[in-house]
Amino acid sequence: MCRKAVLTVLGLLLATLANAQQPPDPEISKAKTFFETAGNPGDRWIEGETMVPHVAPASHFQATMVYYPGAEELQPDEMRVIFMGSAPYPNESQSGMSILVELGNGNRFVFDLGIGSLRNYNALMIPFNTINHVFFTHLHMDHVSDLPYFTMFRPIQGGWTPLHIYGPSGSDEQYGIAHMVKHMMKMTAWHQDSFHSWPIGEGYAPIVHEVDFMDAGGVAYEADGVEITHWPTSHTKDGATSYRLDWNGRSLCYTGDNRPNSLTIEYCKDVDILISEVQTATVSISSMSLGMPPAMAAYTIDTSHTPAYGLGYICKQTKPRVCVGTHYGFDDIFNNEVVAQVRHHYRGAFAFGAPDLVTFNVHGDRKVWWRPAVTAGTAQTPRPVFESETVTLPAPRHQVHDVINDRVKANEIPPEKWYPEGHKPELVREWPLTEDLEIPNPFAR
Ligand SMILES: [Zn+2]
Ligand SMILES: [Zn+2]
Repeated sequence: MCRKAVLTVLGLLLATLANAQQPPDPEISKAKTFFETAGNPGDRWIEGETMVPHVAPASHFQATMVYYPGAEELQPDEMRVIFMGSAPYPNESQSGMSILVELGNGNRFVFDLGIGSLRNYNALMIPFNTINHVFFTHLHMDHVSDLPYFTMFRPIQGGWTPLHIYGPSGSDEQYGIAHMVKHMMKMTAWHQDSFHSWPIGEGYAPIVHEVDFMDAGGVAYEADGVEITHWPTSHTKDGATSYRLDWNGRSLCYTGDNRPNSLTIEYCKDVDILISEVQTATVSISSMSLGMPPAMAAYTIDTSHTPAYGLGYICKQTKPRVCVGTHYGFDDIFNNEVVAQVRHHYRGAFAFGAPDLVTFNVHGDRKVWWRPAVTAGTAQTPRPVFESETVTLPAPRHQVHDVINDRVKANEIPPEKWYPEGHKPELVREWPLTEDLEIPNPFAR
């Protein structure tokens, strides 16, 4: 080592020793303390009214104030809940009730499939063939009416396995979900036979799991560490059901439509997300906007629905990480009233499960966050997802020409008349096989 280098090392050592002996610069210490404590309440004060410490975004979020579908990988221990529908009356920004629950283990569950909600599944690029389990709280059409379309078009998007449909029995066989699905399949006979010219497989053989609507705490589903339980609730008629989903220490209650129910308090204690319908108890005013006589509005709510005061009462008793009001015409005039009514009883985190596409995440040590999803108005159907390297295309039951008679076919204008010269492709008028066909996965990413 040269003399200069030795002196340099010696100088550095002396400087370090001198620094160690000197008291820390008070200005630096003050600045460090400032950045450690200022604005961070710790246990020195309560921040805000509802922003309790468990309301927090996750560091892996692609953006904290909006959810970009497809841009954010669900973590192995995370639960994501998206409102695909959020109202009894559909409008431009709200469809009939539907909630998609996505779990970090790859499972997806749908609760209710109300009118118009399927356009949001397409907009969020959720392929129909990745939805195999649909649960219904009750059989009102604002919760059910997209089921026939979903059942009929799911096989066209690769849903060739049976769809599992869960729902309550009723006071009589004709009021249960099994009866409804059986007759839905009859209603769609023409559709099925027409689409049976394409690969359908078992897509038109739904499996119905009818649960006893009176079974309080019964298990509707159990697999892969997921348990979904149910209990009866009071809503217009026997046969309305509430659900709770548990997985990996995460939990969610979706009570459907109902009067505030003591069983909800029993079964939903300390859940991460409690989702309930909510109504403003202001019928004389809201009936003006809905065009319903106040007496009829009052009768509807007072027999069958949950005013915001009732939701606040339920959430005060159950103490969810976040209390969510949905099945609600999202409107600023009434939003403030709903919050005020909920707050009469409940001081914890509250959010609207409305309008459509609001997205909730439960992540980390049971932290919750919510934000709207961003979709493109022009989004079309997503590509089906198959995990395997090969895909087995089920053979159609018949050819298109088998179910159109010769006299109707004879009226088809010959393509030569309307294709320009040189543009007529080789026409595909027949499916080539009457057996299942295994091909390399055409949708592999
Ligand atoms: Zn409803
Ligand atoms: Zn209802």
